[in-house]
Amino acid sequence: MNLKHKTTEEYQGFEQGPIRPPSEAYSLLVRVTRNCPWNRCTFCPVYKDSRFSIRPKNHVIKDIDSVYRSVEIIQKTAQEEGKVPLADIRKAAGDRDNVDPLAFNAALNWIRGGMRSVFIQDANSLIIKPKDLVEILTHLKMRFPWVERITSYARSHTIARISDDNLKAIRNAGLNRIHIGLESGSNKVLKMTRKGITKETHIKAGRKIKKAGMELSEYVMPGLGGKAYSKEHALETADALNQINPDFIRLRTLAIPDSVALYGDYESGRFEKCSDLMMAEETLLFIESLNGITSVLKSDHILNLFQNLEGKLPEDKEHMLDIVRRFLAMTPDRQCVYQVGRRLGYFLRLSDMDNSRRLERAENACRQFGITPENVDEVIDELMKRFI
Ligand code: SF4
Repeated sequence: MNLKHKTTEEYQGFEQGPIRPPSEAYSLLVRVTRNCPWNRCTFCPVYKDSRFSIRPKNHVIKDIDSVYRSVEIIQKTAQEEGKVPLADIRKAAGDRDNVDPLAFNAALNWIRGGMRSVFIQDANSLIIKPKDLVEILTHLKMRFPWVERITSYARSHTIARISDDNLKAIRNAGLNRIHIGLESGSNKVLKMTRKGITKETHIKAGRKIKKAGMELSEYVMPGLGGKAYSKEHALETADALNQINPDFIRLRTLAIPDSVALYGDYESGRFEKCSDLMMAEETLLFIESLNGITSVLKSDHILNLFQNLEGKLPEDKEHMLDIVRRFLAMTPDRQCVYQVGRRLGYFLRLSDMDNSRRLERAENACRQFGITPENVDEVIDELMKRFI
C-alpha cells in the first residue's frame, strides 16, 4: 500500500472525519489522515470505498490555526458584548476575511464543550511519521496550552512497530490517550473477521502504550465470535486484557448492516449471530474472567444491551455481574420487553422497567408490532442497524 501523500495536494480548507469515540463528543476533531489504511475488517462499515491518505502536515497546521483564529474571534466578541446571540457571533466572523466556516463551527462547538480535549482523526493517526505527529501536537499545544487531553485511535499493528523512544516523544508532545479497537483476544475470531492482527500483537501494543505513559482505552465487541466462538471470544479477550491492564475497557456490541462483508456470511448462514440472551451470557463469562486488573469498564454505546454496565475493577465486578445475572434470571416475556424497550430508547438499564410509563411504552411496542420472545432477535437486528 502506498502511504505517501501527494506533496502537490492543495489545501481545501478545514476538514473533519466521519467518526470519533463516544467519549470524545466534546473534543475538537483534528484530521491528520483520511480514512483507514487497513479497511478490511469484515464487520466495519465506516470507511468502505474511501481511500486512505495522509494529509500534508502544513494543511493540518492550517486547520489548527483556523480554529485558533475562530476561537479568538468568538471569545473577543463575547468579552466585548457580554453574552451575545449566536447570530452576532456569526456576523462578527463573517465580517472578517479568512474565516473558514467549518473551522468556525468546530470552534463554536468546542468552546461550548469547554475546550478541554482534542481528538486526532481518522482511524489510525499514529501511522504518520512520529516526528510529523510530534510537530502537529506541539503546534496544537502552543495554540491551545490549556488542553488537558489529546487522544487518537490507533491500530495495534502500527503501535507495535513504533519504537519506545518515539512513543515517549509523542506522549511528551501531548498525546495522552490512545483508543485501540481490540475487538477480540481470540486469534480465531481476529482471523475470521480479517482484523489483521494477532492477540500477541494486541498485548505487545497495549503494553507499549502504557509503558510510554499514555492512557489506554481498549474496545471490545461482544458477539464478534458469533455462536461458534462466543465462549472462546469471551475467554481469550479477557485473557488479553488481563495481560494488558488498560485504563478503560469499552464495550460496543456487534451489529451487521448490509454494507459490511460479514453480512454475506450472516445471510448465507456461515456466520451465526448470537441472540441477545447469548450475548448476555458471553458478557457474563467475559466479566467473570477479568482478573488481576484495575481497568474501568464502560458500556457507553447505544448498541449495548446494558448501558449502565459500568464500574472499576476489581471492586465493582460483582455489581456488574449482578446486572447481567438479573437479566438472565428474568422470564422470556420480560426479557423481550426489556430488549425492545432498550433498543427503542425507553430503557437504559433494567431498573427503568420499574418506571410504569416507560414499561407501558415498551409493552405497547411489543403488542403493536407482534414482537414475542420467539421473533425478538430478528426485530432487534433491524433496530440495531439504525444506530450504526
Ligand atoms: S482497522 Fe478499524 S477503521 Fe479500519 S477497517 Fe478495521 S475496524 Fe474499521
